[in-house]
Amino acid sequence: GLCLGIESSCDETAAAVVGADRRILSSIIFDQTLLHADFGGVVPEIAARAHAERVDICVAQALSRAGVTLDDIDLISVTAGPGLIGGVLSGVMCARAISAARGIPHLGVNHLAGHALTPRLTDGIAFPYLMLLVSGGHCQFLAVDGPRAFRRLGGTIDDAPGEAFDKTAKLLGLGYPGGPLVEKEAAQGDPARFDFPRPLLDRPGCDMSFSGLKTALRRARDLIVAEKGGLTRQDRADLCAGFQAAVAEVLAEKTARALAEFGRPGGVLAVAGGVAANTAIRTALTGVCDRAGARFLAPPLALCTDNAAMIAWAGLEQWADGARPDAAMVARPRWPLDAGAEPLLGSGK
Ligand code: ATP
Ligand code: MG
Ligand code: FE
Repeated sequence: GLCLGIESSCDETAAAVVGADRRILSSIIFDQTLLHADFGGVVPEIAARAHAERVDICVAQALSRAGVTLDDIDLISVTAGPGLIGGVLSGVMCARAISAARGIPHLGVNHLAGHALTPRLTDGIAFPYLMLLVSGGHCQFLAVDGPRAFRRLGGTIDDAPGEAFDKTAKLLGLGYPGGPLVEKEAAQGDPARFDFPRPLLDRPGCDMSFSGLKTALRRARDLIVAEKGGLTRQDRADLCAGFQAAVAEVLAEKTARALAEFGRPGGVLAVAGGVAANTAIRTALTGVCDRAGARFLAPPLALCTDNAAMIAWAGLEQWADGARPDAAMVARPRWPLDAGAEPLLGSGK
């Protein structure tokens, strides 16, 4: 069967057609980066309007690129949360409208389940496996036991690393989105010049914290500005390198713990989220996996960041697992992934 996936929970409007045989027939992504660039972050109002304007055409493009029509679609899967509620609503309304008009069943899936199940779409790996989801809005370790069985093993207690990268870029006047720009600067910098904190490393478990790092970076910047009147290129590069090294070390150390506590010999650690694009972080995680005897799996970047193919796939997996539509499907701004046998099609629970 074929599934039409729709994603609109953050700053990508996306639609995709995916087969139960793991074939991605199309994956269309309308990126909103330029719309938000002047603000240094996603502006919910702007995002909501853009999703509402674009979601229909995005779906039409996904169908035509796949060479199919709605007659060929067996299931519609839409991100029902968590995310910016205005955007999520655009997708959910679109899915419900098509579903009602064409009599195609629809499922509301959790955006994080989409990320978490991506390694099965790309590499067909078996359950269970460990996942580190590290993006602009999320940072958590998950044990993925089944299409609807997730255990959150720990995660950030404040900022997500992507957000920290973006804020760092903003503090240093580098631009938006910050991740790639900070990484580029860091390549020219000395990671040892600034001694940035590695929060929560002294505590057991997989929880992390990144907001103190941001504060330390600001303080270091302000100190240089106070002393010298401004930042040189090298100052900027060193600040970025120190920041990136701290993030990489925290992620690596906590990954080692997650593998030690919850991994199995020869098991898989998969990553997802935009921050997984970072080479220094990838290298650190690869090293940790090698030492733990685990396989490090990073899906292609286009499937690591927000997309609708992962949502279509999650819908297919969960449908096969017994999930069924619920007339009361609602958009949910918050939706923890491991809420037990989760009410997939939220009745607001
Ligand atoms: P969500 O958290 O809801 O999935 P998002 O749009 O914030 O949404 P992604 O699209 O997965 O998350 O990733 C975007 C984030 O990844 C941004 O914060 C960006 O700065 C960060 N990022 C992208 N490339 C890099 C990189 N090379 N190094 C570090 N961070 C990066
Ligand atoms: Mg995004
Ligand atoms: Fe995401």
